[in-house]
Amino acid sequence: MRLSRLAGVLTLMSVLSIPSACASSNAAPDSVVTRASDRDALTIGIRFDQPGLSERTLDGRFIGFDVDVATYIAGELGVDAEDITWKETTASRREADITSGAVDLVVATYSITDEREQLVAFAGPYFDTGQDLLVRLTSSEITGPDTLDGRKLCAVSKSTSAQQVKDRFSKAVELIEYPRYPDCVAALLAGQVDAVTTDAVILAGYAAQNPELLKVVGKPFSTERYGVGLRKGDADGVAKINQAIESMIDSGAWLDSLTRNIGPSGYALPSPPEVTQR
Ligand code: GLU
Repeated sequence: MRLSRLAGVLTLMSVLSIPSACASSNAAPDSVVTRASDRDALTIGIRFDQPGLSERTLDGRFIGFDVDVATYIAGELGVDAEDITWKETTASRREADITSGAVDLVVATYSITDEREQLVAFAGPYFDTGQDLLVRLTSSEITGPDTLDGRKLCAVSKSTSAQQVKDRFSKAVELIEYPRYPDCVAALLAGQVDAVTTDAVILAGYAAQNPELLKVVGKPFSTERYGVGLRKGDADGVAKINQAIESMIDSGAWLDSLTRNIGPSGYALPSPPEVTQR
């Protein structure tokens, strides 16, 4: 009798302990899913200077589509917006920020590429765009990638855009590289370069800041699929973040964020991408 009572109590205890086991998830101990639930906090690498995508405002807030995607994912991992630490990352620092553990996730217009997948894992994609050109409004000579001979272009170091200029146009084009896009935009406005090249959705944000001076050419010449970067081998993290992206798309929050953050630039909003299970 006593033994069966004890067995009953033990069964009840094990049933009651299931929720706390679930709280720290069934994910691997080093997964971002486990870290998020253990600490109720996340450090996320974003860009600080990409209007419409992710921008640090003068009063220290973070706004934009990438910020919303990151906040939504954090929420699905059980982390409130106020428990996110935003850390600036740049195109050239994204892999190192992930592999060193400086950040848990990178949500930073981060194109999924085979080369990067050697070092980090990607969830997503959550957005598709393509490489384009930003020129001065008065410029009529640059109308697409086949009109770049003899031109000076600015790109951000270690971006896919800089790489593509080197791979495809290096003989005919002079490439200047900076760590951040505002430096390229300043060089364009000052007449030091003929065009800035990166993803059309990024360029649309800068054109919208200077509509009387700048325009996007509008002839995309690559496919860029934005993924969420996380530590290589974190399959649980990838699966959970893919679910979060799907839920953001299905709930309408994805389109709502794009409409608010990207819509005002005039950039034509694309359909949601197919979130691939990697
Ligand atoms: N999406 C491209 C990349 O991941 C270019 C834009 C950027 O600088 O993030 O390299």
